[in-house]
Amino acid sequence: MTDAAVAVAGAWTTDPSRLPDELSSTFRGVMGWGGVAVWDESVDIVDLTREFAARTVQECCGQCFPCRIGMHEVAEILEEICEGKGTEERLQRALELSRHVAEASRCDLGRTGGYAVLDSLEQHHDRFVAAVRAKQPLPRGRYASTVVAPCMGACPAGVDIPAYVEQLRIDEVERSAEAVRRRCPMPATIGRVCVRPCEDACRRGSVDEPVAIRTLKRFVADTEAEPVVEPLPGKPRVAIIGAGPAGLACANYLGANGIKSTIFEALPEAGGMAAVGIPEYRLPRQVLRSEVERVEALGVEIRYNFRFGVDATMDDLFNQGYEAMFVAVGAHQSARMGCEGEDAGYDGFMPGVEFLREIAFGATPLTGETMLVIGGGNVAMDCVRSARRLGFSDVKLLYRRTEAEMPADPVEIAEAKEEGVEMVTLVAPTRIIADDGVVKGLECRRMQLGEPDASGRRRPEPIEGSEFVIPCDCIVPAIGQVCSVDQLMPSHVEVSKWKTIEVDPLTMQSSDPRVFGGGDCYTGPSSLVAALAAGRRAAVSIAAFLQGCDPAPTPEERLEHAMLAVVRDEVQAPIPFTGSTEKLRPAVVPPEVRIQCFDEVEGPVTAADARREAERCLRCYRLAVGVV
Ligand SMILES: Cc1cc2nc3c(=O)[nH]c(=O)nc-3n(C[C@H](O)[C@H](O)[C@H](O)COP(=O)(O)OP(=O)(O)OC[C@H]3O[C@@H](n4cnc5c(N)ncnc54)[C@H](O)[C@@H]3O)c2cc1C
Repeated sequence: MTDAAVAVAGAWTTDPSRLPDELSSTFRGVMGWGGVAVWDESVDIVDLTREFAARTVQECCGQCFPCRIGMHEVAEILEEICEGKGTEERLQRALELSRHVAEASRCDLGRTGGYAVLDSLEQHHDRFVAAVRAKQPLPRGRYASTVVAPCMGACPAGVDIPAYVEQLRIDEVERSAEAVRRRCPMPATIGRVCVRPCEDACRRGSVDEPVAIRTLKRFVADTEAEPVVEPLPGKPRVAIIGAGPAGLACANYLGANGIKSTIFEALPEAGGMAAVGIPEYRLPRQVLRSEVERVEALGVEIRYNFRFGVDATMDDLFNQGYEAMFVAVGAHQSARMGCEGEDAGYDGFMPGVEFLREIAFGATPLTGETMLVIGGGNVAMDCVRSARRLGFSDVKLLYRRTEAEMPADPVEIAEAKEEGVEMVTLVAPTRIIADDGVVKGLECRRMQLGEPDASGRRRPEPIEGSEFVIPCDCIVPAIGQVCSVDQLMPSHVEVSKWKTIEVDPLTMQSSDPRVFGGGDCYTGPSSLVAALAAGRRAAVSIAAFLQGCDPAPTPEERLEHAMLAVVRDEVQAPIPFTGSTEKLRPAVVPPEVRIQCFDEVEGPVTAADARREAERCLRCYRLAVGVV
């Protein structure tokens, strides 16, 4: 074990302020991989340590001897002490064993668990000795516990990634799928297009390369058996507005709780931006449709071409007998560039999300030779790559910073370049040039980078007098989307100044207790996995609300929420690991072939490849126990 890892254990003991206020407001004390932190002196640290050791044993995978046998005995000794049957010799043995567990265990659950127990035994030695000498049973506390890992902390849905990777490693695909589906109801979609924050947090990345977590999820989803789903009986009780990932996830997890819902969707297709934004070469429509069908199989009706706010108001739906509502209408309005001529309605000018939506419905919305796309994010990449597939021979992406600052996924940038897209950086549009209402070119200004702005990226500053014109047939701005929830909500439902719905971030409940909201229409444009997480959380809250209970999170949920944030923000200790293997990279269709059509670019992987990749997971689990 490295010194750095030793320093991590015990960090909370010496400095409890490292932990979020959310913990101290719910728990009297907490014990976990960073040691013991107590906010209430009445907390019995001896009993807390016993509980922590017992739960470490419960979570132990049993694959290495120190954790399986060593921690088991530590837990037994602590149990004896709490029953009033401890001895000082046995206490000494617990100290030595926990050190051994910490130093010799093969995964972080054992390592960090061992250090936490050791830390407690050393820091509070007097209390353990007093408990041994008192020879009296100790009163048992009430506890909540959670297991987290850095990858889980980075995942907005908190998917138990090490569990599904581990099940895959031992060839248990169905169990792996079950572990994924507990938090992610659209694994085939997420397995293809997730922005994969988990991989950025994967500690394997500090050894060689992160585990290919997204690819493994796709493998599991593509391989699992079709489930037998029974449709729910009875009347729908919840109205869901929007059949995007947030709405679908909510319907799915309500269904898992035996609650039927109806989804009202403005478009003739379900999936939200996954269907009408993300192009088919990244996410084939059939893959998405089968995931939607799985939600429908629960008895969920999707009412297509139904525009909430036009075809029915909130009151209308409540009057029809719905008892609760989940608003998940996304962020579909394109942000404005602030460039002269963008509102003139010129032929050849079309906002990015509209351009992609038209293509998704089988149209060819723009034609010509040269297209300019403005933006540096993933939507801009989808536009340029789609333009190549529509036959534009000269496609330029214009971005006001440099390529290094582009927020788009580096894989997307690389694949766009392979497909012949030209990146024109340090430029900003100033005026659309049109002739007789038809786009002919774009006047741009050159930019330079100044001091970093609030995002930490260097601010682009215009170079006066540097204007120049790029001739083109079409212009597609793709600089982001904005929300417009204000147009849909009655006045008593609070809406922010960004026109997003205001909800409690833990319960997703709005100022009207019957109305919940989530996904892009709450956060602003975000990601599929964040929308799925919001839909699930809302479903849990709505289920509680329908039972007449407080939708507030349970202590377990609060502990998980707080500890996922702790593990996400913590500087991770280096890993004592030698050996190095390359990340699994699925085969992709060559650029000259793929630009001819919208067929999927990334290929599947074999079961053997998936198993080998799963072997690369370091199982960085950590346990935390909170005293209620
Ligand atoms: C082009 C593009 C590419 C993207 N690529 C990725 C990616 O690769 N990976 C990733 O993780 N994220 C990606 N995103 C982001 C992701 O798609 C969104 O964050 C996610 O879809 C948000 O889900 P949602 O359910 O909140 O909203 P949406 O997906 O927007 O769904 C909202 C639904 O509500 C419906 N609706 C709206 N108004 C009404 C109304 N009045 N009545 C009834 N229905 C209504 C809409 O038609 C839509 O179906 C991309 C986004 C875009 C635009």
